Amino acid sequence: MTHQIETLQRFIDEAEKIVFFGGAGVSTESGLPDYRSNTGTYTELERQQLDPKKIMSKRYLLNYPEKFFNRPNTRKKTEVPKPNAAHLYLAELEKQGKDVRIITQNVDGLHQAAGSKLVVELHGNNRHFHCMECGREYKLNEIQRDEQNIPRCPIDNGIIRADVILFGENLKPGILDRAKELMASSDLLIIAGTSLTVNPSKNLIRYFKGKRVVVINKTPLTIDLPVDLAIEDAVGKVFQQLTV
Ligand SMILES: [Zn+2]
Repeated sequence: MTHQIETLQRFIDEAEKIVFFGGAGVSTESGLPDYRSNTGTYTELERQQLDPKKIMSKRYLLNYPEKFFNRPNTRKKTEVPKPNAAHLYLAELEKQGKDVRIITQNVDGLHQAAGSKLVVELHGNNRHFHCMECGREYKLNEIQRDEQNIPRCPIDNGIIRADVILFGENLKPGILDRAKELMASSDLLIIAGTSLTVNPSKNLIRYFKGKRVVVINKTPLTIDLPVDLAIEDAVGKVFQQLTV
């Protein structure tokens, strides 16, 4: 065990309330692309000269639904992502009685799949769907697509979309307040697998008033808080070395 891992272990053992703030880098070891990395979805879209901010927006979805639902995706549809060592460790820690709070920028539900109970999904989730016309809710296996591959509500032919926040859309009311509240009441903040370049995530960490801040990321981060421990490595690989 390296000195850094030992320090992280000690911080976790000594903490009473842990807030884990994660981004795409938390799920890459589960086989999901990091949007901004070289092999990520954004990069793939850009390679095809498509602007991710334009493609992944509500306006694009409404104006060009056929293109939106047939956009390139680097993940093969047959792969089912599974929680990795980071998701599993955090869930186990909570199961053992530690107060662990998760704030995630991911929409994949892997923290819940691992068993975490307190998860705030800033950007929504890709497991619930609704009709944009009537608001009826659908599960993935209930969705029917038309000949252009657009998911359609059988009642009113409205477009069915995932409950994911797209570019140009606001976060769901209350979500950000809840995240701020969790930030402000924790004593250990672990920031993992996120570049923290976009708001409101960038601002959110300013609400942390606790004792210690840990950053786990493949590349160095500059953040608006003093950092007690910075580990430059894959998130799952780091958590794999910890004990509950
Ligand atoms: Zn409908």
